[in-house]
Amino acid sequence: MPTLHVVDRYADLRDRRLAARLAAEDAAEERGLDPFERITCRTHRNWLHHCVGADAHVILVTGHRWCRACERPVPVVVDELAGQVLLRCPGCGRFPDSPANRLLVQVCARALAVAQGRPDGLRRRRPRPAAPAPAGSRRAGPRDRRGCS
Ligand SMILES: [Zn+2]
Ligand SMILES: [Zn+2]
Repeated sequence: MPTLHVVDRYADLRDRRLAARLAAEDAAEERGLDPFERITCRTHRNWLHHCVGADAHVILVTGHRWCRACERPVPVVVDELAGQVLLRCPGCGRFPDSPANRLLVQVCARALAVAQGRPDGLRRRRPRPAAPAPAGSRRAGPRDRRGCS
């Protein structure tokens, strides 16, 4: 086996899951992954939802974190407990609707999930569609309260 000299840019990161993901996405990006679909940030060496508030993530050209109507940057609110990512323009009070911002919210939510060790929602979104509870779910009727004794 030939020795591969792979420089681990992320050897010093304590979060090894993050380091692995960064390295994997760097490689994927070289093969054509859209950098805006990354859940890690090469610039800040962090999960996207941890650094998306940095100025570098406001991109006027694409509209990332930018409200076109008000022409101002939009902060991102990440609720790690609820797993929610919100963008609301302080100018108009609305979600700055654009393909870039819709993708940003999606990707941040995915970053949040993966960082917390939940499955990556990339391949199949939501394994179970929201369906009414199955008929057999209320099986414990009043009759089998306690077994016979
Ligand atoms: Zn960043
Ligand atoms: Zn606005």
